[in-house]
Amino acid sequence: AELREARIQKTKTVCTYCGVGCAFDVWTKGRKILKIEPRMEAPVNQISTCVKGKFGWDWVNSPDRILQPLIRRGDAFEPVSWDEALDYVARRLREIRLRDGDDALAFIASSKCTNEENYLMQKLARAVMHTNNIDNCSRYCQAPATEALRRTMGYGGDSGSIRDIEQADLVIIVGANTAESHPVLATRIRRAHKKRGQKLIVADLRRNDMARRADLHLHPRPGTDLVWLSAVTKYILDQGRADEAFIRQRVNGFDAYVASLEKFTLEYAEEVTGIPKDALIRAAEMVMDAKSVCICWAMGVTQQLGGADTSTAICNLLLITGNVGRPGTGAYPLRGHNNVQGAGDFGCAPAFFPGYERVADPAVREKWERAWGVSLPTNPGLDNHQMIDAIHDGRLKAMYLVGEDIAVVDSNANYVQAALEKLEFFVVQEVFFTKTAQYADVILPACPSLEKEGTFTNTERRIQRLYRALDPLGDTRPDWQVIQDLANRLGANWNYRSPQEIFEEACGITELMKGAAYAPLEGYGSLQWPVRADGTDTPLLYTDGFPLPDGKARLYPVDWTPTLALPPEYDIHLNNGRMLEHFHEGNLTYRVPGIRQKVPDAWVEISRELATERGIQDGDWVRVVSPYGAVKLRATVTDRVSGKEIYIPMNSVEAAVNLLTSSAADKDTHTPAFKDMKVRLEPVGNQ
Ligand code: SF4
Repeated sequence: AELREARIQKTKTVCTYCGVGCAFDVWTKGRKILKIEPRMEAPVNQISTCVKGKFGWDWVNSPDRILQPLIRRGDAFEPVSWDEALDYVARRLREIRLRDGDDALAFIASSKCTNEENYLMQKLARAVMHTNNIDNCSRYCQAPATEALRRTMGYGGDSGSIRDIEQADLVIIVGANTAESHPVLATRIRRAHKKRGQKLIVADLRRNDMARRADLHLHPRPGTDLVWLSAVTKYILDQGRADEAFIRQRVNGFDAYVASLEKFTLEYAEEVTGIPKDALIRAAEMVMDAKSVCICWAMGVTQQLGGADTSTAICNLLLITGNVGRPGTGAYPLRGHNNVQGAGDFGCAPAFFPGYERVADPAVREKWERAWGVSLPTNPGLDNHQMIDAIHDGRLKAMYLVGEDIAVVDSNANYVQAALEKLEFFVVQEVFFTKTAQYADVILPACPSLEKEGTFTNTERRIQRLYRALDPLGDTRPDWQVIQDLANRLGANWNYRSPQEIFEEACGITELMKGAAYAPLEGYGSLQWPVRADGTDTPLLYTDGFPLPDGKARLYPVDWTPTLALPPEYDIHLNNGRMLEHFHEGNLTYRVPGIRQKVPDAWVEISRELATERGIQDGDWVRVVSPYGAVKLRATVTDRVSGKEIYIPMNSVEAAVNLLTSSAADKDTHTPAFKDMKVRLEPVGNQ
């Protein structure tokens, strides 16, 4: 610690914000962050970062940091020692488990934590507390995409690398605000578009930055992407321009799939989506003319009632045109949080052990039982969405949650907050006193990424190391140490001395990451899973086959799920999403003074037509009301949105957009349909 005070340190880290996975050196002197220095050897970003990666770090020294364990006494929290806090947590969890059974407990892991910490969270749930009630926030974003990829291609991850997206002839972005949510990736697409003539189609309700630059911007009616995607695929087949050799050699299920497309004519698609037939033909021609196509998508697709099916329609289009398994091709669900990919990869999901090995498969379970030396639960676990219902109906009594502000970021926030209020015992491990932490019985103070070691996995399945740049502040501890201390109080006998030991245990057991180790990850090294036992990694998937029966991909018939039916007074569609300067609800970035000054709050975007119709001026306060709640925000009158579609960025806690969203969810994965909501507007003038 003294040395750190005395001289400037340069420490390699990986960005704690989005899933692009930029790596850079952070220069520190004592606790002061002097600068962020991106380096050429960084595999994803080289010398680029976005504003958050470059300037968004001052919060690590915020006076708001929680520095000691806290136990609730009545309405107040009292600082206590780690021993007292952990003894208390262990005693209460044991009591509830003894009284109500293993499945009365639930665990929520964090996509902001390292792979090693996520591995320990699911091991704590399964091997120590004997429940599969473990999940992470990919349930709120990309679980439908992961499901679609597993249905059609086999691996629940991007099928190539960011380099492939840059190399593609044609990039299609569906329901993703790439310029703001994945800025460094957007820069690479812009560069390819400008310098190399890469073609770009954007399908989005908003005319966001990438939509403005696109060669073709499709504006479907909300929630209808599956219809235009299927119509474009059918048109390509009807024109005889599918990749017949690829289909013959590498794909199963062709006939049933073609039959399922019968209704998706251009006329039907025009009627349902509102996209003119000519534009659909143009999109199809651009796909047919391109030698290589990548499709990127995000929450505009997944956070719908049919999110997994629309993601599947994307995969089907790629398979029909042979755009998989070659450089410059593939399916790219863009992961939101820095380590949401890793949280799933390392087993924080009710149905999967690390490496997406199925809990329900007895042979798989036996393997993990042998490896961990315990018997494992056979009951299906609850996902995040089911956990909230289970609290309301009294099945779930206690929850241990690490680093997620579910009171704000889960949909139907009022319903979620009412559930948290009902929990008999709630432990929150956090850096700041979040909205969710307000409901806790015990708060355990955690370290942010700059204060710990470990690995993150980015959207392209790339595992990268981060090193400790700062000592833990106050009495905070890295999450892996806290989880281990708690597990040992609950009867485990874990003796991990470092994240490396945890990583090597996890990878040694999984097939997916068998050959991964810390040595090749040294410095700016990285590995993209699958990593074979000999250490070879896989930047581009499916070059030799698909990990499905007989090595072939599967065309998977899907149908369109219409959007929610709401009473007619809710006449305006509500869209929502991220923004460039803040990350998500803003718990971190609002604590960076420069960013806060630039963007002090959220707003509601209203089209010029709607503003004129309702007499709303730019800057007026507006009340937005849904059947589930209401928020008051200032109006921004803009041509980014059109007609009766409005947009609210998610960077607010008090005016959280999820006070308006419902509990309706994707039918296959339970990802909330955040993007499927209608509201009414009530102007409240300038007050
Ligand atoms: Fe961080 Fe994403 Fe920005 Fe890169 S693009 S610096 S990973 S927020």
